[in-house]
This record gives sequence, structure tokens and C-alpha cells, in this order.
Amino acid sequence: MDSDIAIDWHARAKTIKIDGRAVINGKRVNAADAATFECFSPIDNRKLTGVASCKAADVDLAVTAARAAFNDRRWAGLPPKERKKIMIRFADLIIANKEELALLETLDMGKPITASLNVDVNSAANTICWFGEAIDKVYDEIAPTADHTLAMITREPIGVVGAIVPWNYPIAMAAWKIAPALAAGNSVVLKPSEKSPLTALRLGDLALQAGIPAGVLNVLPGFGPDAGSPLALHMDVDCIAFTGSTAVGKKIQVMAGQSNLKRAWCELGGKSPNIVFADCADLDRAAEASAGSIFYNQGESCNAPSRLLVERSIKDVFVKKLLAQLPNYMPGDPLNSDTSMGAMVDCGQMETVLKYIESGRKQGARLLAGGERARNDSGGFYINPTIFDNVTNDMTIALEEIFGPVLSIITFDTQEEAIKIANDTQYGLAAAVWTRDISRAHIVARALRAGTVHVNSYDEDDITVPFGGYKQSGNGRDKSLHALEKYTELKTTWIRLA
Ligand code: NAD
Repeated sequence: MDSDIAIDWHARAKTIKIDGRAVINGKRVNAADAATFECFSPIDNRKLTGVASCKAADVDLAVTAARAAFNDRRWAGLPPKERKKIMIRFADLIIANKEELALLETLDMGKPITASLNVDVNSAANTICWFGEAIDKVYDEIAPTADHTLAMITREPIGVVGAIVPWNYPIAMAAWKIAPALAAGNSVVLKPSEKSPLTALRLGDLALQAGIPAGVLNVLPGFGPDAGSPLALHMDVDCIAFTGSTAVGKKIQVMAGQSNLKRAWCELGGKSPNIVFADCADLDRAAEASAGSIFYNQGESCNAPSRLLVERSIKDVFVKKLLAQLPNYMPGDPLNSDTSMGAMVDCGQMETVLKYIESGRKQGARLLAGGERARNDSGGFYINPTIFDNVTNDMTIALEEIFGPVLSIITFDTQEEAIKIANDTQYGLAAAVWTRDISRAHIVARALRAGTVHVNSYDEDDITVPFGGYKQSGNGRDKSLHALEKYTELKTTWIRLA
């Protein structure tokens, strides 16, 4: 872990300069109608800056710039090894500016500074470096056709990619989209969430500084219906790569169909089951990973294991171990280096989570811990880590994505029952199974309808593996070489040999 103990983040927060203008065609610009929205920090509700409130006119300008850059091949036409060099430089610049980026991320979104610094910013740099490194090692194919023909199967950049991302891991989610899209040679219009636009805007500057030509990466802050919808509806956007809620993901698919049938890739919500069998070899580790994965990032993680399924015979023992983890996740000032749980992204999200907690109480779940707002005098938006017991899978807190630090414990008696409850959800993003029985581990992992299944862990992660969901958790995959499939068209070229 990097050391940031010596940095006085509070002092830096007072003097940081923030530019809220959009990045279009290589320049920082105001919105065409000069409108701005105010960006507040959930740490203490301080105003951070005004941000360009982009709308359809700005989307048009950005898409026109992206199309011009794609058509003259200033980026797509570079040899892959040249794109690689520039993307590695881009990643290096992210690392060189990591303290500024981490501070922006924490101020904007409320996550602890150590997470921003050591996880999110590093992860974004690593993603961009990894796809840059990969792109001159990806080969095309020759099909096994008859002797008098040559059939080449090649991948080509799709053109102009619109990327719409959420607020929970702002810089990391932006990198998951732009890295494979840029590596493949596309031009990109990135729309960050209106709740956390600041690091994405700086990515736009750093890409230019690295040598990514003007127009290739445009960053448009703005509200979903104002800036996101015109992008998803645009007739000159070839692909929309969306990460966000399932409700908005459905609208994105409709907009793609209503316009030019652009490819629409959606990475959506989750309600992931975490199954602990009585034969789990290490209940302490299971408790640590279960708490760590639901309370990390204030519970604002799409793949958070928010449904904990525990076999009845070990329930009481396991719950005790889980409760012992809670002191590690008490909300603190996100700018303090020893804080492990920060602020909810804004007042609205805090209120949504508190409403879910209220519904859990009303529907008969037993509140074991938390359940209330914390750090009230800070002016910010904090919630104590919350655990409900005696939850049934038909309660609202088990059915819907809460996106906050709330864990629902559901008890089961048999393996079949555990699988049934685990799969009884509209979502299918992630899951876990804890057991010492190797056959059971395989059988249950196969039966779980989820894009990622962990066995005896929950917290493994790497850029080399695909990430995405089954069912209403979305389609397509971020990360790994499979992500390139979303941003390329497959072309067959037949050559008749005389
Ligand atoms: P959201 O759907 O409200 O917003 C996501 C993005 O879409 C934002 O940029 C927003 O401005 C934009 N948007 C909103 N309405 C729009 C519209 N009508 N047209 C076009 N764009 C619109 O989601 P959120 O609250 O920002 O993020 C939380 C959600 O993201 C959770 O459901 C979480 O599970 C999901 N998520 C999924 C993954 C994954 O990889 N599967 C990763 C992170 C977050």
C-alpha cells in the first residue's frame, strides 16, 4: 500500500483548483448555452465548483469532433504500437497526477482518500496501460476455406463510442470504457455522472497531454436526460457503452433501437448472493470478506454481496463474527487517512438508503446493527453499517438494489434451497460460495446464474478477467480482452485466388 500519511488532505482540499468545463475537440469549453450546475462535496456539503451542464448542442459538437477524428484516422490510423505508446504515457500521467485525482475523487464522491489514492486511481491507470499494452498483441484470423479462396476475419474499430458512466467508481468506470475503446482505435464521447464529473474531466486533459489527438476523447458533464439521452439517441454514434442502474439501462436499449440501432452495452445493477455453508473451512475469513465486500465503498458497489445466505446450523456463530467486523467500518471523515468508510454520494442517495432500512424494519426483518444516519454535525451524508437478520427473499431489502451499507441475512437449510434463493432475483452480476467440499463448490458455482462466482473469497479482482452480468445485470463484459469485442466490428473479406 502506498503511504499517504504525510499528506495534509484537508489543507490541499482548501487550495485545489477545479476546472468544471467540458473537453470538446481538444479544448476546455463551457456548455454552448453557458449553463452550469453546482457540484457539492458529500463530505460536508461544501460547494466545489460550477460544472458545464452539457445538452444536445454540446453532444452534437462532441460527436462531430469525434467523427471527424475517426474519419481522418488521426488515431485509428496509427499503428497499434504507436497507440500503445501514447496510452502508456496516458497511464503514466494518471500516476504522476494521482494525488490530485484522488483528492478530486474523494471530494466529489465521498469515498475514503486512501481508497481513491491506492485503489481507484491506480486501477484506472492500470486499465489504460493494460489495454494499451495489449493492443499490439491481438491478431486477426484466416478462415479454413477452400483452396481457391482466402477469407480474412478482421476486427475494425466501430467508430464513435458514447460512454455513459455512474458515480460509484467514477475514474475506474470511465477507464473501463475508454481504455478498450481507445486502444481499438475508436473516438469516444464520455459522459460522467452529474454527481461525480471531476476526475473524468481531468482524464480528458491528461489524454491530450499524453498525445491522444484532439477530438478522440471528449468529456461532456451533464445530467442524464440532458446529455446522456442525446448521446444514446444520436444518429452518428455507433456504440453506446453504459454503466449504471438497470432502470436507465433499459431506456438506453430503447434509445439505441429508436435511433440508429447502435450497439448498446449495459453494465447494470446487482443483488448478489453470498452463500456460507456450514462446512466452510474458515468462518473468520468468510466474515471478514463478507463485511469487507458489502461495506467497502459505503456499500455503493454494483457487485456488493448484499444478500448473505447462511446455513442455519452456523448462523448464530457466523453472525457474531460478522458483528465483530463492524468497528472496522464506522463512517469517518473521508479526508482522514485512517477512514475506511466515507460519505454516501449525496443527500438523495442517503435518503434512499434510509428508506430501504425503514422498509426492512416495517416488513419484519430484525435490525442487528446500524440503521441510522451518522456524523450528523459534519454537514455531510453518512450511514452506519447496517445488518438485518431474519430477512426473507421476498422482502424489498432482499429484492431491490439498495446501493448502501446494508446487509440482509437469509437463512437456509439445504444446498438446493440455497441455490434457489440465490438465483431468485432479477439480477445476476456476482455471487459467492463458501465451502470446504470441492464438489459442492463446483456444483453450486455452476448452478449460480451470475457473471462472476467466487469460491471461498469475495474480493478477488484483476483486469485480466471479464466483468459483467447475467439477466438484468446487463450484457457485454468490461475488462479483459473480451471487452475489445464491444468496441470492434467483425469483418469478413473474401479474396478469390485466380
Ligand atoms: P444511473 O443509471 O442513475 O446513472 C448512470 C449514468 O446514466 C449517469 O451518468 C447518468 O447521468 C446517466 N443517465 C441517467 N438517466 C439517463 C437517461 N435518461 N439517459 C441517458 N443517461 C442517463 O446510475 P447511478 O446511480 O449513477 O449508478 C449506480 C448504478 O450503477 C447501480 O445500479 C450500480 O449497480 C450500477 N453499476 C454497475 C456496474 C457494473 O459494472 N455492472 C458498475 C458500477 C455501477
